[in-house]
Amino acid sequence: MHTPGPLKFGPNTLTIYQEGTGTPVAKIVGPGFGYPFPHELGTAIANGVLLAAAPDLLAALTGLNHMGGDERGGYCICPRKDGSAPDAQHSTACADARAALAKAGKG
Ligand SMILES: [Zn+2]
Repeated sequence: MHTPGPLKFGPNTLTIYQEGTGTPVAKIVGPGFGYPFPHELGTAIANGVLLAAAPDLLAALTGLNHMGGDERGGYCICPRKDGSAPDAQHSTACADARAALAKAGKG
């Protein structure tokens, strides 16, 4: 189980924090923070912003596609409208969402 969101990114410290508790969750590698880093500081900040949004993105995708297995049944946003159907029966966007959910351990 990951740290519950929402998360917040602190660009001055390149650290991702849990909102509310302020507990540090992750440190982004960037130039000037003791690590060799091939990219600009702006890239490190963009990485932190994206990673801090991960719980929100996961919740949004989870709300749009459910693979079934409980009382809610399966649903999705593509014309198939059945998240319990095999991956090959979904639209490309829906299949991409399902793959992203699986990558996040929610598939
Ligand atoms: Zn679908």
